[in-house]
Amino acid sequence: MERTKIKELLERTDFGAEVCVKGWVRTRRGSKSVNFIALNDGSTIKNVQIVADVEKFDAEMLKLITTGACLSVEGQLVESQGAGQAAEVQATSIQVLGTCGSDFPMQKKGQTFEYMRQHAHLRLRTNTFGAVFRIRHNMAMAIHSYFHEHGFFYFHSPIITGSDAEGAGQMFQVTTQNLANLKKDEAGKIDYSDDFFGKPTNLTVSGQLEGELGATALGAIYTFGPTFRAENSNTPRHLAEFWMIEPEVAFIDLDDLMDLEEDFIKYCVRWALDNCKDDLEFLNKMVDNTLLDRLHSVVDTSFVRLTYTEGISLLEKAISAGKKFEFPVYWGCDLASEHERYLVEEYFKKPVIMTDYPKEIKAFYMKLNADGKTVQGTDVLFPQIGEIIGGSIREEDHDKLIDGMARFNIHPEDMSWYLDTRKFGTCPHGGFGLGFERLILFVTGMQNIRDVIPFPRTPNSAEF
Ligand code: ATP
Ligand code: MN
Repeated sequence: MERTKIKELLERTDFGAEVCVKGWVRTRRGSKSVNFIALNDGSTIKNVQIVADVEKFDAEMLKLITTGACLSVEGQLVESQGAGQAAEVQATSIQVLGTCGSDFPMQKKGQTFEYMRQHAHLRLRTNTFGAVFRIRHNMAMAIHSYFHEHGFFYFHSPIITGSDAEGAGQMFQVTTQNLANLKKDEAGKIDYSDDFFGKPTNLTVSGQLEGELGATALGAIYTFGPTFRAENSNTPRHLAEFWMIEPEVAFIDLDDLMDLEEDFIKYCVRWALDNCKDDLEFLNKMVDNTLLDRLHSVVDTSFVRLTYTEGISLLEKAISAGKKFEFPVYWGCDLASEHERYLVEEYFKKPVIMTDYPKEIKAFYMKLNADGKTVQGTDVLFPQIGEIIGGSIREEDHDKLIDGMARFNIHPEDMSWYLDTRKFGTCPHGGFGLGFERLILFVTGMQNIRDVIPFPRTPNSAEF
């Protein structure tokens, strides 16, 4: 008999029909005469209830129906007597496809997320992680759908890169050299001539630079791919391998860019509210009971837009009024997460788009303002998360871009292909990078970024 997915089955009302469901046992309870089995197949957070009359089944087989076991059940679709759902299955045949012993690590309810992370290969079987990864899928669909609807082309930037312009020192090197016997030249420097690419290469920290090449030809592109940073930041918001979405658009200015950031995030959150209702309700109940309110409020509110300089003066006012921060605040400082969270969570109580940062603390490619001191960078700061998006209008003037490189000790000859965009038909353009897992953190209410990617990579941890 053909299998019906539980999501579909629970919506059916053709009671009396013969059905087949397959899935994993969440719970079994019952009396001497009848057993109730809650079965889940991952298609939905909801379980289907299987009703099994004890006398119809082999007692030894029934004993094998423990939490985590995998079953194939045939029976009749019947109207449920209990509250909650409409349909359940009156079993006529049960086959145990896979037994599950009491050493199943996910057997007990109420395990900590820390514990589940150590069993990340099995945590997918729990309600919480099922919900998180269904939402993750839905957010990927939302992102592609948003950009496709708005005329952006999906652009594949390389994962192995030969440019180390951005964030050198925090990249993972890619090599086929024998590390135990490195070839060195007379000066003792590593000789890359017979390495795979004939020169040092790394895993990408951002697809932006290549994205700019795409945008200044196709008009509007976005990348959506894995990104690697070897920064040793053991925080609940950093991964060594994460996914980034980087749209890049020709002919836009800073206001257009902020409009795009705001519209895009709201679209994604609305998509979750429209398409992930059951999972969000579950997470709202079990993980964070302010989640749904927070999601609705982001969709309904206008984000605050303020400059870095205004932000600094608000923080200075707060300090005068007695607010204590761990890190100092002064014009020119890189804002710490505590500063960002004060503005977002305590002062404005809504998302903030901050702009016009001191040029020293932002990347070389950001467009210089007329004041000569600040650049047209934007960070979108979110409650609970802090920075979710970092973006900017790019410097389109060839000579100013060279000045920017000099400030950061980047050699123009290493980046001639990038500079060519400014040499041949340069145009105003800009874009941003959204950390996919930071978006998932916000949308699920989970607290730790390791819990929104199936198999997290962090310092000293590359299991599974
Ligand atoms: P942060 O200051 O939080 O370390 P960043 O300024 O280094 O971030 P950008 O280079 O602006 O980040 O990257 C764009 C986006 O990518 C960030 O806004 C964030 O959402 C995400 N991001 C950056 N680093 C990480 C990381 N290690 N793990 C997960 N997401 C990240
Ligand atoms: Mn940033």
